[in-house]
Amino acid sequence: MHYLDHAAGTPVRPVAVDAMMPMLTTDFGNPSGAHRLARSANRALDDARETMAEALGVEPGEIVFTSGGTEADNLAVNGVIGARGGVAVCSAIEHHAVLEPVEHLGGLVAPVDRRGLVDLEVLAELLRSASEPVSLVSVMLANNETGVIQPLEPIRVVIDEYAPGAVFHTDAVQSLCWVDVAAAAACVDLISVSAHKFGGPKGVGVLAVRNGITLAPMQRGGGQEKGRRNGTQNAPGIVAMTAAAAEVIGGRAAEIERVSELRDRLADGLLATIPDTHESAVPAGADRANKIANICHLAFEGIESEALLFLLEKDQIMASAASSCSSGAQDPSHVLAAMGVGRELAAGSLRLSLGHTSTAADVDAALAAVPAAVARLRDHVGYATAGVQDGSGAT
Ligand code: PLP
Repeated sequence: MHYLDHAAGTPVRPVAVDAMMPMLTTDFGNPSGAHRLARSANRALDDARETMAEALGVEPGEIVFTSGGTEADNLAVNGVIGARGGVAVCSAIEHHAVLEPVEHLGGLVAPVDRRGLVDLEVLAELLRSASEPVSLVSVMLANNETGVIQPLEPIRVVIDEYAPGAVFHTDAVQSLCWVDVAAAAACVDLISVSAHKFGGPKGVGVLAVRNGITLAPMQRGGGQEKGRRNGTQNAPGIVAMTAAAAEVIGGRAAEIERVSELRDRLADGLLATIPDTHESAVPAGADRANKIANICHLAFEGIESEALLFLLEKDQIMASAASSCSSGAQDPSHVLAAMGVGRELAAGSLRLSLGHTSTAADVDAALAAVPAAVARLRDHVGYATAGVQDGSGAT
């Protein structure tokens, strides 16, 4: 099996499993309790808070443990607007975990350009002309479909000028393995991460909340996480997440180099062998420095990704078209639409995402299987290729 869907979820790292086991078996106390077992669980949470704070460049007291990226994003948007009122603004390429709560609250959506970057002039105009004060701006650090990295500092400058009262949130869920989040998000007030994207278990994450920012809690209860996120913490998951984060950060520089080489060989190989293929947000001849190291995102003219994924799975290759959503349905990608990619081309997109278990053999398998599958699907619909090798970034 060749797992090329790390952006959807990573295999759990052995260090994370090892860290988790005692919390499930011997140190199982409720961290809010008073006895020895409870105190021990609480100490484990304190240690975890310190490690995650260092990973994100915040103070330990600014870490709020959540049930994952979706909860962290929802808490950021609903928590800030619930506490302050006003309007939320997000970019058009956000994950649904940001987009849906912003739209639900009647917020504003800022467009992106063809490279998938927020248009700063339009954002400035949106903030300046909003009918109510803007309280929150949310722009993700790395996009989960295309892998495009968003420089956050210029956005902070625009916020400070046109909506000085607003707090700045970033969804860094896809970033921890590939970006120094502490540095990239130093200008940000709220940061979301999710353990299962970096070798931790599913159902656990963090919202970092800088001191001085008040959140309206989403559920009321026992006052855990200083009342910002009530409910007994998932101590085993948190400890496992922390072990994964520590391993990721320790080996990050070497892993970026290793995985980007694999990714480049994969993307270059597919672009060279499959005509009428477009790579998202990478202009012809450009390197992929604008993207996180693990994502190869291509669109093939004349095919439907659902059929492509089916054929690839028969060849033991697990991949995605866009982001994975709960239904598994392949709706046209709102990310590609926001970047100006036509519906037909977007329908033929493929995301191959690598990670800590990826090897040269996975790349070789995809280099063999994808061209054959695309050719078969094109034959089936009578698609005549224009014969162009195109890495033009037309997507
Ligand atoms: N944000 C981004 C960018 C994601 O890629 C995901 C997951 O795909 C989420 C948020 C949601 O995170 P979780 O799966 O932990 O709820």
